[in-house]
Amino acid sequence: MSLPADYHMHTPLCRHAVGEPDEYARRALEIGLTEIGFSDHSPMRQDNFDNWRMNFSQLDEYVEKVRRTQKNFPQLTIRLALEVDFIPGHEDWIRELAARHPWDYFIGSVHYVSDSWAIDDPQKLSEWKNRDSFEVWRICFERLTKAAESKLFEIIGHADLPKKFGHKPPDNYTKLFEPFLDAAKKSGCTLDVNTAGLRKDCKEIYPSREILKLAFEKGVPITFGSDAHAPDEVGMNFAEAIQLARGVGYKEFCRFEKRQRTLEKF
Ligand code: ZN
Ligand code: FE
Ligand code: FE
Ligand code: ZN
Repeated sequence: MSLPADYHMHTPLCRHAVGEPDEYARRALEIGLTEIGFSDHSPMRQDNFDNWRMNFSQLDEYVEKVRRTQKNFPQLTIRLALEVDFIPGHEDWIRELAARHPWDYFIGSVHYVSDSWAIDDPQKLSEWKNRDSFEVWRICFERLTKAAESKLFEIIGHADLPKKFGHKPPDNYTKLFEPFLDAAKKSGCTLDVNTAGLRKDCKEIYPSREILKLAFEKGVPITFGSDAHAPDEVGMNFAEAIQLARGVGYKEFCRFEKRQRTLEKF
């Protein structure tokens, strides 16, 4: 039994994180983690798509950075991964990215509910006022369902991200997230139990207890992630995440190597 791996961490290449990968690794060892994974925001086909990810020309540099940290910290298992935006129509691009390097896993995340609006972008927070919040939640789970069905991802990131700035889910949103969990179960996707929500206005882990409970009942496995954008965020609030996951019944988390899954007790 050990601390679960922290599978959701960023690097400065995405332009909104600080600290070099070596510092993340050092912090991981300090707090007793035995395994981490870098999952920085993947490039888009068009570099000017937005301003919070690496350019395509930096992808090899990213892989090199992670490889270097792997060499510098042989006592720590370090996975090579990406957090990839799932946007309908981008599937071929995601396959091209997948073929470029021997990734350990892809996290599929829904930040975009249209081709131009990322719901978690602080610079686009005012857009929430122009939208019907139920519609945002509905589209988000519809896209998450498609992401799970696509077989492009091992892990689905922060499933109830629309709550980030404190926008509450609609009443009875079970009917929105249940099809997503069914798709995740069917295609073998795991859920990212992501502590970053605790550092945001919602003050809650992603996903909510309600979602996680049904996920456990349906047999959808989990991974853990801090979504660290700075070294001191590595493994942050894992005690709370473990407590939440145990509380709904989970005893195991998933590990990935070259996109193959194993289960381990925590
Ligand atoms: Zn980020
Ligand atoms: Fe994300
Ligand atoms: Fe992230
Ligand atoms: Zn994320």
